[in-house]
Amino acid sequence: MSPTQPRILLIYTGGTIGMIENPVTRALEPFDFTHLIDNVPKMKMLNYRIDNISFEPPIDSSDMNPQHWVDITRAIEQNYDKYDGFVVLHGTDTMAYTASALSFMLENLRKPVIITGSQLPIGEVRTDGEENLITAVQIAAARTSDGEPMVQEVAILFEDYLWRGNRATKRSADNFNAFKSHNYPELAKIGLGINFHEEALMRHSHSPHTPLKSYCNLNTSVMVIDLFPGLRPDILRHQLATPGVKGIVLKTYGAGNAPTAQWFTEAVKEAVERGVVVLNVTQCVNGSVSRRYAAGNALACAGAISGGDMTTEAALTKLMFLFGAGYTPRRVSELLGVSLRGEITLHP
Ligand code: ASP
Repeated sequence: MSPTQPRILLIYTGGTIGMIENPVTRALEPFDFTHLIDNVPKMKMLNYRIDNISFEPPIDSSDMNPQHWVDITRAIEQNYDKYDGFVVLHGTDTMAYTASALSFMLENLRKPVIITGSQLPIGEVRTDGEENLITAVQIAAARTSDGEPMVQEVAILFEDYLWRGNRATKRSADNFNAFKSHNYPELAKIGLGINFHEEALMRHSHSPHTPLKSYCNLNTSVMVIDLFPGLRPDILRHQLATPGVKGIVLKTYGAGNAPTAQWFTEAVKEAVERGVVVLNVTQCVNGSVSRRYAAGNALACAGAISGGDMTTEAALTKLMFLFGAGYTPRRVSELLGVSLRGEITLHP
């Protein structure tokens, strides 16, 4: 191996990219890593050192859970010094949740963690998996002119774009461009070359020698409540009083608006007074929570915390991470408004 040959660790969790059709049910099922890699002979042309770790068995990402995120985090932490970059192969369904969770679980990350997958299995003639895999590996190996890793964060590579992981959302079940970050620009545009947007990439102010710190405690006492006209007071109260719940992502209308009826604001206020953190994020894919309308202001007065322009995936996993780190509800509420990993846009 030449001293400059990039060293990449592939972590295969499953997903469509490695699936094959069950001959009886005709449904796609996860399959092993050897099948996947045998279908990408072009990988050898890269002349990188590529090792792999595989979930046993590989899973459909609908089965992804926080223990899997811990397994991925540990795999990266244990191999951090041995590799230049990491590529996680993952199903698209929960990829944005995994990307968000990993971004919080890996602090002081100075190397690329690139998550990718595909819409068509790697064995299919028109697969998008081969291109996604090869591009992800190239991005994981990319360096700046100073020789530093080009990407120093968790990112999702899919088809034409590289997105910040905790800003991306799955937007299509059948388009090859399956992901989009609606509130943050792309980190790179993929065309004839890989055109990095350096001004959008995470750059750390701390010393490059600050060690990676991983957080493997996630608290899953969280839930999402999606508002809709007709939501009944008894049902909302029941949800807000779910035993053991510590944090709730409340998905509201437009710029963070909710019913102004007294029963609604009182129900939220009571939950907040019981110590539940209620985090207000918008149902819109683009834009931010604000106090522009009385309907949003009332919710803020009831004690709901603004989630700004965070995605639901980032909001939920940030709550899991902050409660898992042992912070009090008051401190969790403060940190929700701080950009920990570039997940929220802060306005002066
Ligand atoms: N159900 C699959 C998964 O998330 C979908 C995909 O990979 O595109 O594992």
